[in-house]
Amino acid sequence: MRILVTGGAGFIGSHIVDALVARGDEVVAFDDLSTGRRENVHPGAELVVGDLRDADAVEALVARIQPDAVSHQGAQTSVSRSVREPILDATTNALGTLHLLEALARHGAGRLVLASTGGAIYGEIPEGTRADVGHPLLPISPYACSKLAAEAYVGAAARARSQQTTVLRYANVYGPRQDPHGEAGVVAIFSQRLLRHEPIRINGMRAAGDDGCIRDYVHVRDVVRTNLLALDGELAAPIVNVCTGIAATTRLLAERLHALSKSGSPIEVGAPRDGDLERSVLEPSTDPRVIARVDLEEGLADTLAYFRDR
Ligand code: NAD
Repeated sequence: MRILVTGGAGFIGSHIVDALVARGDEVVAFDDLSTGRRENVHPGAELVVGDLRDADAVEALVARIQPDAVSHQGAQTSVSRSVREPILDATTNALGTLHLLEALARHGAGRLVLASTGGAIYGEIPEGTRADVGHPLLPISPYACSKLAAEAYVGAAARARSQQTTVLRYANVYGPRQDPHGEAGVVAIFSQRLLRHEPIRINGMRAAGDDGCIRDYVHVRDVVRTNLLALDGELAAPIVNVCTGIAATTRLLAERLHALSKSGSPIEVGAPRDGDLERSVLEPSTDPRVIARVDLEEGLADTLAYFRDR
């Protein structure tokens, strides 16, 4: 298959590119290198440097390569930046998605797989519950709003003109190549600080000294596997949560990473951060091919090894 991966130089996109190249697909990565890195892109893929906000560039690319499928990972991914720069966030994430859909409508209409965010789009998930894909969507950040808008455009294209689409709502994704600014940035921050024997800080969920916010951490390998199924049209559901369904506190992450790294770093506590959701845990798909396979211990060890080798 000929596959376009937007954001192909980023954390998740570059792992998708690797997996596609490994199985023999023809892959084009499209990225403006704003947070992505050229060196992340597998040499077996073509890298086109360009901006999703540039409708002409997106159209020319899609017209040239006529992809069988598009993995749309490219986005402004920082929640805090979206608060500071909501217009940049919306033009990249919502308008950028619309540019792709328009180009696909004119040139071949290959399947579009959209990376969305279960970690932000559902809002607060009360203790003892998990958000399934039917859960009300209650975004708080501009980032979550722009992803919700992108989902709406993708859903409308599916209904109005039979565009084949799958929306994947990721929980908090961690693993090698992750960036401290992404939704699971804490894993990267702790790993780097522990390896340098610097203090790590658990920001409280409600007060300094508690166990911190609760998240559903899913390893990038599980995210890649689900993306490949979606690109191949193997997932019947139009919207799929990509998650473990397991709640983990910041303290649990800190203690596991501390033990794995054998670091001498002190663990400190801090006040809650403005704007952080307290709890976000998703309901996994019942499709056995989608259920996460990498457990937290293995995934954290793998991530730590990456930062150690870098
Ligand atoms: P990332 O920042 O590493 O990847 C995003 C990529 O998009 C980067 O390579 C960046 O350079 C590129 N990009 C940004 N603006 C662009 C533009 N205007 N034109 C072209 N390229 C542009 O982040 P990631 O964690 O790999 O995220 C991949 C996707 O997954 C994103 O859509 C993100 O919203 C989504 N997501 C990530 C998480 C997570 O925990 N990491 C959770 C939920 C959803």
